[in-house]
Parts: sequence; structure tokens; C-alpha cells
Amino acid sequence: MCVNSGFINSVASTILHLLIPKVHVTKTYLPDLQKYTELLRKVWNRNYVTNNGPLAIELEQRLAQYLGESHLAWMSNGTIALQIAIDSLNLTGSILTTPFTYVATANSILWQKCTPIFVDIEESGFSIDPKKLDNMIAPDTTGILAVHVYGYPCDVDALASYADLKGLKLIYDASHTFGCEYRGKALAGYGDLATLSFHATKVFHTIEGGGVVSHHKDLAEKIKLSTTHGHKFDDYSQVGTNGKNSELHAGVGLLNLEGFHNVVLGRKNIFDRYLKAFSHTDLFMLDPSSYRDFKYNYAYAPVLFSSEDELLKVVEELNQQNIYPRRYFYPALNTLPYLNPNSCPRAESVSKRMLCLPLYHDLELESVDTVISVVKKYVLCHA
Ligand SMILES: *Cc1c(COP(=O)(O)O)cnc(C)c1O
Repeated sequence: MCVNSGFINSVASTILHLLIPKVHVTKTYLPDLQKYTELLRKVWNRNYVTNNGPLAIELEQRLAQYLGESHLAWMSNGTIALQIAIDSLNLTGSILTTPFTYVATANSILWQKCTPIFVDIEESGFSIDPKKLDNMIAPDTTGILAVHVYGYPCDVDALASYADLKGLKLIYDASHTFGCEYRGKALAGYGDLATLSFHATKVFHTIEGGGVVSHHKDLAEKIKLSTTHGHKFDDYSQVGTNGKNSELHAGVGLLNLEGFHNVVLGRKNIFDRYLKAFSHTDLFMLDPSSYRDFKYNYAYAPVLFSSEDELLKVVEELNQQNIYPRRYFYPALNTLPYLNPNSCPRAESVSKRMLCLPLYHDLELESVDTVISVVKKYVLCHA
């Protein structure tokens, strides 16, 4: 009898593949189920599940306190937060923004019937380049929507002074920044408004959720009313949408906030292991300590390869080992088929070469070391 060893090997490797647990780019942190059940029992007893219930109010206050900000509206997701931010500042016409972000940033501009103008990213970083704004501004431009990509601060001084000079509103998509501090305050505290996402894939989450940070009482009220159809009981004062979030989500948020410190510590440990391993290679990894007066939340572990080819080889080999890093953010948004292409060479090049490595608080070090050794096989290492 002829034994086909190739066939047997491939069956064996398929079985192995099914048995090894998958490692994704992130893993949602879930609170203790017993504690959550206790919260749920109270919700059931009250029979009050949404419309700014007691847990939602408590969470909103705690989040504001955590950020050190007086006005934070907690809402149903980070995309409605962007839409409400754009709407509440009455932005029209065109908005200067970055092509290197999640698609929700540009989509929110379009959804609000404004036009995104894509400004390329910094030569040395990954956020919008303030020096390139003046080439791109149009007569109908009313605002800037910048993103603190991966939770690292934009050039906030240059953006604020350009916005002042031209009379533009400045919004930050601060979706990645919960837990980041810059020059003694929350990174989400910069700009006229900043939005947060508390989606399950984010470093702090309420399963689905988002927020808008603002700095004036009247604007804060307008934003809050926008989430509740524009009315409080029988008082109808403005147009609104439904951006409310539920007691069930608030409960998860309250418990996750208790565990947040440990989540960040666990992530830091893994992040530092990557950083050290890649320090003498051609791979570029942002180092939070290269920013002055900055505290990072370790939301992502992005690494920049010298070529897309290197990246694709690493992804292929990691996938064979059941490890699934993600290309955040690919493709560059200025190349989306439903938009008029204007070129942003740096963003297009970076988006092809950037890979986010697996990072979560209880990721096994064994998996981290597998990732490191596969990456090192394909990048140039120096002695
Ligand atoms: C996650 C994310 C959003 C959207 O948030 P959702 O809560 O998923 O709606 C917006 N912008 C950026 C940069 C994000 O990463």
C-alpha cells in the first residue's frame, strides 16, 4: 500500500490548526460575570433599561471624572459622537481631515453632507500634518477633523493656531485616547470638541458606546439633547437623533472602569516586550517615551515595515500559526472608491506598510514571542 505522507501531513496540520486557540489583534476585556449579574438584577428590579437611567448617569459622571473634564456626553457609539460633534458646531462645506484613520472618521463627514478634504500625514508621525493644511484649505472649509492616531497626540499647538488663524472649528477624533494624558490633562480634552469610541475593540469599552467632550455648558447641553431626539420630557427645543445608550451597556462600562488600570498595565508589559525586541531592527515602532509629558494607554502596537512585501509575508506566516494581526489602517481613505481621489503619498505608503500586532492584557507571552520571532525572520536586524 502506498502511504501519501504529504496528505497525512496536511491533515495533521489542519487538525493542529483547529486545536490551537486563535490569537487576534485584540481581545475584548469582559468584567466578572457574577458582578455584572448583580448589577443586572438591580436593573431588572427597577425595570428601567434605557433613557439615561441611574447606571448611565453614574457612568457618565465617572467617565467625566476620570478624564478630568466637566462635560462628557456618553452615547450609543463613536460614530454618532462624530456626527453630533460635526452637527453641533454647524459645520458645512468642506472639512480638512486625515486619510490615515478608521473609515468612520471620513464617513461621518460625508453623512453630515460635508466634503472631506484629505490632508497628508506628518513625515515623522502618523497624524495630520499641520504644515500641509494651507495647501488644501478651500473657500468653503469650516473645520478640521484630526485624529490622535493610535492614541498619540497630534501637533495640538500647530492645529489650534491654524484653526484660530482661519476661523475654523477644531474637532479631534479621540477614539483611541481613553486613558492618555498629555501635558497634564486628558488628550481627549483638546480641541473645540473631541469624540471617543467605547466599542468592544477599544482599550476601554461599554460594548457599544461613544462620547463627546466639550467645554461650554450651552454646547454640552445641545450635544446631550441631540442624543435624546432634541427634547426633555415635553420640552422640544431642537432637532435631534437617537444617540442614547442603555443600562446594560452602562453596567459593563462601570465594571470595566474598575478593571481599567490593570488592563493598561497588562498591555504595557506586552507592548514593552515588542518594543525591546524590535529596537535593533529596521522595523519602526512608536515609543510613547519619545513624546514629552505624555502618558500612553497602550491601545495599539503598530509596527511599520520597510515594504508591503515584508508585511504580507509576516501576516501569512502568522496566520499559519493561528495569529491574526490587523492592518490598521488600510487602505488610505483618500483612495476609497466612493471618493474623489486626491493623492496623499505618505499616508498611502504608510497604510500599506503598517501592521497592528496582537495586544491585550492577558495575551500569553508565548504568543508574543512567536510574533516577535516571525517578524524578525523577515526584517533586517542589526547587531
Ligand atoms: C472605532 C473608531 C471610530 C468609531 O467608533 P464606533 O464606536 O465603532 O462607532 C471612529 N474613529 C476611529 C478612529 C475609530 O477607531
